Amino acid sequence: MIDFDEIRSKILDGCMPSLEEAVFLLGLEGAQVFDLFMLANRITRRHFGDLIDTCSILNAKSGLCDQNCSFCAQSTHHNTGIKPYPLMGEDEVLSVAERMEESGSNRFSIVTSGLSLNQDEFERILHTIRRLRDETNLSICTSIGSLNQKRALMLKSAGVTCIHHNLETSKRFFPRVCTTHTYEDWERTLGIAKDIGFEVCSGGIIGLGEKLIDRVELALALKDLDVDSVPINILTPIPGTPLEDTITPSPLEVLKTIAVYRILLPSKHIRLAGGREVNLRSLQSLALISGADGLMLGNYLTTSGNTPEEDLEMISDLGLRVKDHV
Ligand code: SF4
Repeated sequence: MIDFDEIRSKILDGCMPSLEEAVFLLGLEGAQVFDLFMLANRITRRHFGDLIDTCSILNAKSGLCDQNCSFCAQSTHHNTGIKPYPLMGEDEVLSVAERMEESGSNRFSIVTSGLSLNQDEFERILHTIRRLRDETNLSICTSIGSLNQKRALMLKSAGVTCIHHNLETSKRFFPRVCTTHTYEDWERTLGIAKDIGFEVCSGGIIGLGEKLIDRVELALALKDLDVDSVPINILTPIPGTPLEDTITPSPLEVLKTIAVYRILLPSKHIRLAGGREVNLRSLQSLALISGADGLMLGNYLTTSGNTPEEDLEMISDLGLRVKDHV
């Protein structure tokens, strides 16, 4: 019989819960849920004090993707009605980045749709990154699909510090989410990035229809890859995708997931990302005292977020503060 108080003592003694115990924590009900949040908050404050790491993303190339990820508005396999656009020009990217920097973001990620960029697009991205490095104080991240070692090294010398790609879900559940590429494709890209010395950011989406054990297995896969930052997205069911009628997790279920990720990845950034406004509703601020130490500011890939001002007010209302630029 698994007992919460025993697991809590074990965690406070610096031990990791077993897979079964982590699933048990995700399934907690009643008052113990708040004990779980307090435990996760204690670990968060131990590692990060009162600092919140902020970042923002720009969808620099949208739609027309030939992959079939079931949650994604940008896939040509689904009829979502989004307006696709080609890779943005440098000036446009620079102006969004400067705006986000002024709004309090300390990291900026350029995201593009598709499995990877063609050579012309890649060279244009490199040029844009050099300008971001020279003209802003932002730490630059890219999420441009799969990378080989040569491209990864070119990104590094242009000024990129962090490579992002979500694993999305557990290895076991991934084929239910996408059949046009494999989990191993993304593991390989993340491994190359880690070997070269990038910070690596990778997380997933909860609410895809996965079981609690899949959420734990994703956290353990990210732990094995030694990623530095873990964005947690909550599904926003997009009309026209196969998941359009999915019932999304309750706010408390989202918070329990964040808390368990903090326990399993105690020293890593746990970043509250897309879907939080819709799914956490009035409980968004609780995430920052239940395990999350990071916040994605502004809009997401195809959905809008809180304004940066609202998020900064939420951070300050909790007595926390934004980490300075790096
Ligand atoms: S998640 Fe990426 S690879 Fe998958 S369909 Fe969307 S843009 Fe394409």
